[in-house]
Amino acid sequence: MDTKIQIKDRFFTPYISKEKIAEAVARVASQMNEDLAGKNPLFLCVLNGAFVFAADLFREIKVDSEISFIRMKSYEGMHSTGEVKQIYGLQQDITDRTVVVVEDIVDTGFTIQQLLKQLYAHNPKEVKVATLLFKPESLKCDVKPDYVALEIPPAFIVGYGLDYDEQGRNLKDIYVVVED
Ligand code: 5GP
Repeated sequence: MDTKIQIKDRFFTPYISKEKIAEAVARVASQMNEDLAGKNPLFLCVLNGAFVFAADLFREIKVDSEISFIRMKSYEGMHSTGEVKQIYGLQQDITDRTVVVVEDIVDTGFTIQQLLKQLYAHNPKEVKVATLLFKPESLKCDVKPDYVALEIPPAFIVGYGLDYDEQGRNLKDIYVVVED
């Protein structure tokens, strides 16, 4: 694995190797292959961060299934105090379908909470959440991902699709920020 790297003004050190990531992805995929057989699930990859995870995960899926891509876009709600994110790009009719949201990371949980609320408004049969990374100590919402590849403590990470100011998504391993 590489040593310390610099992205813009910050330094990062290797944290999770590509081999460990591949092992974790294969583990959640085999769990999904058991749970989702016969359900023809629709995987919804949340861009941009989850695209690498989704590509690797989906190729480990052996049950009949589809994949599509959405974004969560921020907007200032007229009466909202906090940041509100809205689903953008949902093309499929998800009524009565099993949907698997594929996320890069669940941190405070606000993004996934808003996403679930908006998806359930379309009357799916069920919605499962798969995330590459989960920071349980940072969680501020009553949400629990169904499939977690890797649990990590609250630290800022990049690589394997995740960015620092849009850079670093191409790194094969996951890196953690060096606090100064
Ligand atoms: P949440 O709404 O759960 O607090 O945050 C989810 C989003 O915040 C993720 O989809 C991701 O875009 C971003 N995020 C949270 N933690 C990290 C991190 O450690 N690294 C990077 N690159 N993005 C993060």
